[in-house]
Amino acid sequence: MNDVIPAPAQARVPVSGGGTFPVHRIYCVGRNYAEHAVEMGFTGREPPFFFLKPADAVVPVAEGETGQVEYPSLTRNYHHEIELVVAIGRGGRDIAAAQAPQHIWGYAVGLDMTRRDLQGDMKKQGRPWCIGKAFDHSAPIGPLVPKARTGELLAGAITLSVNGSLKQQGDLRELIWSVNETIEQISAAWTLVPGDLIFTGTPAGVGPVARGDVMEGAIAGLGTLKVAVR
Ligand code: MN
Repeated sequence: MNDVIPAPAQARVPVSGGGTFPVHRIYCVGRNYAEHAVEMGFTGREPPFFFLKPADAVVPVAEGETGQVEYPSLTRNYHHEIELVVAIGRGGRDIAAAQAPQHIWGYAVGLDMTRRDLQGDMKKQGRPWCIGKAFDHSAPIGPLVPKARTGELLAGAITLSVNGSLKQQGDLRELIWSVNETIEQISAAWTLVPGDLIFTGTPAGVGPVARGDVMEGAIAGLGTLKVAVR
């Protein structure tokens, strides 16, 4: 059987120390830090919920490089959300939280970039968020660090600065739904496969960026992710 068009390019994320991680799906957890849930107008006590971004939304940023994203179309309120990204190395369905660590290949620093105005419009109308969340280049991500090197990441500072000024600050231990619980819940709804990425939610302090701004995110144990807006 011959493809009648060229096969689409496989999205990949660089791995710290060498190699690449091919991306299958990008799952995202909504409102997973209490203070961020409150800043978005919620209590922080709701059950978890999920949305997806297309695999080719990733903007891979190699170690020591500054990634580049174009200011996206249609929005006037383009927001940063710094997040711990979990990479799945072993698939499965109905994975119990206690078994979840065996499915994690590694971790990265990621940005769940958001067209907040469009997301808000869709929310108000009870429509899907895709246009606010799942747009081109909406998932910049730094090098994956193997779990074999970091161990299980359960705590540690997560921060984001814009042009050197601190905007978001939290700790991984403040996740409402832990990484392991998140894997349990996602794998109850979808079959996880090697290559899946999970954006685990953002701490409080989300806000807009403009052309010319440089974002620098960091998570203890994973280094930094630097991305400039063109
Ligand atoms: Mn997010």
